[in-house]
Amino acid sequence: MTAYFCVLAFLMIFLIEICFVILVSETLENRARDKISLIGKEFEATLQSGADEKTLEDSINRNRIDGINIFLFTAEGELVAPDDYGDIQSILNEVASRVKQEEAGYNITYRSGDAVSYASKIEYAGKPHILFVTYSVSIVRDTVLNLQLYLLIIGLCVFAAAVLVSFAFSKKLTSGLKTMSDTAVLLAEGDYDIQFTNADYKEMAQLSDTLNYVRDEVKKSEDFQHEILANVTHDLKTPLTMIKAYASMIKEISGDNPEKRDKHLQVIIDEADRLTGLVNDVLSVSKLQANMTEVKLKVFNLTELVYGIINKFGYLQETQGYSFMLDIEQNLYTRADEEKISQVIYNLLGNAANYTGEDKTVYISLNSSMDGKRVRFAVKDTGKGISKKDLSEIWNRYYRVNENHNRPVKGTGLGLNIVKAILESHSFDFGVESEVEKGSLFWVDFPCVPAEIEI
Ligand code: ADP
Repeated sequence: MTAYFCVLAFLMIFLIEICFVILVSETLENRARDKISLIGKEFEATLQSGADEKTLEDSINRNRIDGINIFLFTAEGELVAPDDYGDIQSILNEVASRVKQEEAGYNITYRSGDAVSYASKIEYAGKPHILFVTYSVSIVRDTVLNLQLYLLIIGLCVFAAAVLVSFAFSKKLTSGLKTMSDTAVLLAEGDYDIQFTNADYKEMAQLSDTLNYVRDEVKKSEDFQHEILANVTHDLKTPLTMIKAYASMIKEISGDNPEKRDKHLQVIIDEADRLTGLVNDVLSVSKLQANMTEVKLKVFNLTELVYGIINKFGYLQETQGYSFMLDIEQNLYTRADEEKISQVIYNLLGNAANYTGEDKTVYISLNSSMDGKRVRFAVKDTGKGISKKDLSEIWNRYYRVNENHNRPVKGTGLGLNIVKAILESHSFDFGVESEVEKGSLFWVDFPCVPAEIEI
């Protein structure tokens, strides 16, 4: 990590230095060029205005103080101004090669060696003359070199600081991560008393919170597993004991009494059904959990399906005084996995019958929405309802609210989890509304499709 930081810091400093050097030297040279050509043009204007020799000398001397040299030659190479200059042959050679052959009015600004120069051919006093203005940029170069050096020193200091900071930072970060990783290993080994603590950085504190949440969830799930194992074992044991007891009774006591024998046989059949239901539920959950079942979509008559399932519960109305209040629209079709949806409706109806109140009433409705796009199936009971705390939990596998059953316990806390898994695999909306002592309403929204569509 430190190495990455160092490389990054080095690259940034290197880039800044390169940009700075290029930009500064370019800018300074461009400004020198502009200045030189401006002074050249001003001097030309002075010449054109017919200034006398003294004015010209003054202008030349003033600029010389700023490091700018101005020369005026005749076209034949004779120095007109300044009059006090030493060896002018090299200057003359250079300027002559650039403008001597040109027409009056021609000018050029150029860089040659350490100097930026302006040369032009002009008419002065009725004759062609050559004007040459030059400025040494060695001072610019020296300035850039100095700046470069300062920048290098600053860069090295920043680099050293970056190395130190990144080293300290990465050490702190990795030590936190190492502690977390060690703690995670303990969690993986089954120690749920561990605590992820790291509040050095906001993100690490968030990670700690998330890992603590994972720990709680894993612990909860483990507790649930133990609970369901106990539940399933108990629920398997009870009907098996009953079956054995009643079978023995038939063999020893009621075998010859048809009335009693039939009653005892019915208990055996009911208990065997209960066992089958339980085993089916456990199988469904494990299949859904392992994603082993695919959703086989087809268009079917939802109204008929709902009626069919209500009929299965008919014995409750006939023998136990239950009333099913129906508000069902005819011929509503949907597209879904018919078998699975029938399991959903069966589970929801079964729960409503199981948990409804003393009046043993269950309200079942199936209606299409105003826009005709959805069909809502809803089942409502008048039972004890579900507390806010339990509402979010009831969809979890193996979850059972403390005993509040009307009929003897049949389920294992798997029913709603199966409902949830099936509806989620269809991406259908579903939910529950419940108030303690006022009953619960479970609903599912199906897509509404025309009868003729087949896939
Ligand atoms: P079970 O087989 O125990 O009924 P479910 O998964 O179907 O399991 O339901 C989970 C728990 O949710 C139930 O144990 C019960 O406490 C609660 N529950 C489900 N439906 C209702 C309902 N209609 N009224 C009140 N409680 C309900």
